[in-house]
Amino acid sequence: MTETNTPPPTDFIRDIIDEDNRTGRHDGRVATRFPPEPNGYIHIGHAKSVCLNFGIAVQYGGTCNLRMDDTDPEGESLEFVESIMSDIRWLGFDWEDRLFYASDYFEALYDFAWRLIEDGKAYVCNLTPDEMREYRGSFTEPGTESPGRSRSIEENLDLFSRMRAGEFADGAYTLRAKIDMASPNIVMRDPIMYRIKRAPHYRTGDEWVIYPMYDFAHGLSDALEGITHSICTLEFENNRPLYDWFVEQLIPGDRPQQIEFARLNVSYTVLSKRRLIELVTRGFVNGWDDPRMPTVAGMRRRGYTPAAIRNFAAAIGVAKNDNLVDAGLLESCVRDDLNETAHRAMAVLRPLKVVLDNYPEGRSEEFDCANHPQKPELGSRRVPFSRILYIEREDFEEIPPKKYKRLAPGKEVRLRNAYVIRFDRLVKDEKTGEILELHCTCDPETRNGPPADGRKVDGVIHWVSAEHAVPAEVRLYDRLFGIPDPAGEDYLDHLNPDSLQVLKGCFAERSLGEAAAGSRWQFERIGYFCADEKDSLPGKPVFNRIVPLRDTWSKIAARK
Ligand code: ATP
Ligand code: MG
Repeated sequence: MTETNTPPPTDFIRDIIDEDNRTGRHDGRVATRFPPEPNGYIHIGHAKSVCLNFGIAVQYGGTCNLRMDDTDPEGESLEFVESIMSDIRWLGFDWEDRLFYASDYFEALYDFAWRLIEDGKAYVCNLTPDEMREYRGSFTEPGTESPGRSRSIEENLDLFSRMRAGEFADGAYTLRAKIDMASPNIVMRDPIMYRIKRAPHYRTGDEWVIYPMYDFAHGLSDALEGITHSICTLEFENNRPLYDWFVEQLIPGDRPQQIEFARLNVSYTVLSKRRLIELVTRGFVNGWDDPRMPTVAGMRRRGYTPAAIRNFAAAIGVAKNDNLVDAGLLESCVRDDLNETAHRAMAVLRPLKVVLDNYPEGRSEEFDCANHPQKPELGSRRVPFSRILYIEREDFEEIPPKKYKRLAPGKEVRLRNAYVIRFDRLVKDEKTGEILELHCTCDPETRNGPPADGRKVDGVIHWVSAEHAVPAEVRLYDRLFGIPDPAGEDYLDHLNPDSLQVLKGCFAERSLGEAAAGSRWQFERIGYFCADEKDSLPGKPVFNRIVPLRDTWSKIAARK
């Protein structure tokens, strides 16, 4: 990970760890883990958790495990495991040799369950899901004991081993913890530990027809790995006593400490895996790495940097209350990082032809242009110039508004890094009235400075030389949803119809022809762009817009 000089963050989780280290709880050890379920690609919310867990391990000289929480075969796959690993590495974190799978603990978990039955602390239950709901009681009513609760230990052991052996239909029995049907915390009312489910598992195949529930598996997996601080999101707060209960019964001693923090939500997007899966499978986006997706793979393809995502995670910190973070904050972290590192270049997205009538035909010259205006150490490149150029269509107005600083009748403008030019006349398509080309005069005295006679030229526009420019495709990505909080079930109704605009006839300056796949640039006056990892080829570049130069959405929001 890149070193920074910023002080380590402080938050209530780090306060707890500091206090533990002071009192000697966990013998001063700090062992965290990131436990994704491999049933989807990880997204910006997971990235926050990755930064938190791995960041804490780095800060305290501890360890952070990567554990695939793969106890529910449905939807889990190797593709997701691989994507998770590559995304975490890309974010800049390393689990070294500590990659674990909850499915590797299936046998150990079965033995733990067996022991609880032997100790009279678990039983096989034959209530249907509906009955179970009825027996559970409510916030105001205690639950009712299942008939299975009074089964003998021998019978429970026999039934449980036959559940494993596949003698019963899916759902015919469950294994439940015998805790307290009258507990005020409904989670503690004899929760299910195992269910029968005939579904092949991507790692264990058909070996198992019973699978442990998350609540049973999770805490014990943490304990088996010697985790000290088990950081999770708020929805597990009520499950903490259960987490503790299982560990106390089975692995007494120094127990992992569950700490909950608020889930990250980001405006103009959705982070629920179910919804992200729906966007992909129903084709609303082009796969998990679509640059509009809030997935790490999508953000990477879009051109976001790992540093920007880590800075964002640090900036939002961790909280105890759910909130919606402005997407503009993430974008501004991206902009701040790229402003430092991205090389500048010129590209014209909607070209308008300009002929410099006084510039000799067949002549060309090269300008030495700095790659970064404030960083000479980033070097320079040669940018060719000739008689025919392209400028941005919107940089010319036939009838300009007041104070217009770009090109217009009677006006002069500076071509960035090159000469001052004056507009003379234009050629229109006689039928449509469309402007086909501009004819201008170039002032040869202005190559290295302002006009000698003191004329003021305010505007600066970008350009490319037609003869030397590289044709490019540019994909203008925007926010996936048109409203800040697309949280309702009707979220698909709020997809932003303009979230992708493909521009085919763009021209990029010569040097961009060789833009490496994944390289990031500032196109002067336009925004930050990334050569697409998959589709960009030498001589045929394809660029994704990462972010515009300025936050245009905040203006829109302010106007509303
Ligand atoms: P689902 O969306 O189905 O609830 P999940 O997002 O919880 O699933 P997991 O793979 O279980 O997916 O998550 C792995 C870890 O990432 C968990 O420890 C969880 O706390 C954390 N995590 C998931 N979503 C967020 C989020 N939005 N903000 C912060 N942490 C998150
Ligand atoms: Mg989860």
